[in-house]
Amino acid sequence: MGLQDGVQGRVELRGLVKRYGPLYAVDHVSLEVSSGEFLALLGPSGSGKTTILMSIAGFEYPDEGQVLIGGEDVTWSPPNKRNLGMVFQKYTLFPHMSVLENIAFPLKMRGVGRAEREERARAALHTVRLGQMGERRPAQLSGGQQQRVAIARAIVYQPRVLLMDEPLSALDKNLREEMQIEIKHLQREIGITVIFVTHDQTEALTMADRVAVLDQGRLQQLGAPRALYEAPETGFVAGFIGETNFCEGTLHAAAMPGEAVSVALDGGGRMQAVAAQALPAGGRIRVALRPERLRVGPVGAEGMAARVSEAIYAGNATTLLLEGEGGQSLRARIPAGAGLHEPREGEPVRLSWQPADARAFVAAS
Ligand code: ADP
Ligand code: MG
Repeated sequence: MGLQDGVQGRVELRGLVKRYGPLYAVDHVSLEVSSGEFLALLGPSGSGKTTILMSIAGFEYPDEGQVLIGGEDVTWSPPNKRNLGMVFQKYTLFPHMSVLENIAFPLKMRGVGRAEREERARAALHTVRLGQMGERRPAQLSGGQQQRVAIARAIVYQPRVLLMDEPLSALDKNLREEMQIEIKHLQREIGITVIFVTHDQTEALTMADRVAVLDQGRLQQLGAPRALYEAPETGFVAGFIGETNFCEGTLHAAAMPGEAVSVALDGGGRMQAVAAQALPAGGRIRVALRPERLRVGPVGAEGMAARVSEAIYAGNATTLLLEGEGGQSLRARIPAGAGLHEPREGEPVRLSWQPADARAFVAAS
């Protein structure tokens, strides 16, 4: 289709605010999505994802801020003037129409003639790999196939942006994972901008070029999957994406982001870390450290003294539950097959880490 060149599919939110009474469902969110980019909006339930998507679609109007699509301010335009495709969790296909008639329906609404309708609906059906299913009714298709029909119907009129709100959450795990890859391939193939809402971090990391992490209506961080996992910028992101150990303590002197710090842990001992955000002097600090970045060595080496309270074997890795010298609970992961020593339950060990892997945040933000 190739209509996404340039800025046609560019989406920009400027200072978007949506309030319900005293509650900020969306709290001053600004972000830009490039034409042809796949952006995931990721956050827990109630974090404002759907409200943002509905504001882009034109089904909600913001209290403050602007929505731009293709460089044009559409904040107050009705949905049918925005030329967007939408797919929801519940595929609202018309049960009495055939698959092809369902897909052709938006074209009919737009006054496209019968022959062209049929040709374009068949092409869209082919794109979602359901070429043989056109004459069936929706009820004769599986859940995954119905969701593909919903996608075909959303792209048949070549919208500049495709909005998807948890479209896979009704499917079982295997099918969901298959569809994640398929939607990603489809998006690359037709070059459309996709904004995809999910509360599932694995889904967001798997599918998106960039992920916008939301909490309580606020944009916490916007970045590539690797950046979010390896360099979270807020304590919320560190805790929400992947598995993390948190150790609490205090900091003597203030620090700027990227600066090396030495945190005095609550239970005694110190932890070398790097400030992930601006840290105030004397403030409460939380240090985040991934289980797979924790090295478990024999007693006597450098690092934090600890004891193995439990070793959980899971085939590809063994997870160690550890108790640090100051009473910290920590997890470490030892991959199988790397020839690493696997300590037994009760064994005393030393924990060490690269300071850059221990990221210090303001506690209770
Ligand atoms: P998400 O999609 O991330 O689960 P939503 O955007 O649906 O979150 O909701 C964000 C917040 O706004 C929630 O606290 C929700 O309860 C509230 N909310 C959403 N729609 C309404 C509404 N129509 N009236 C009142 N509160 C709403
Ligand atoms: Mg929602």
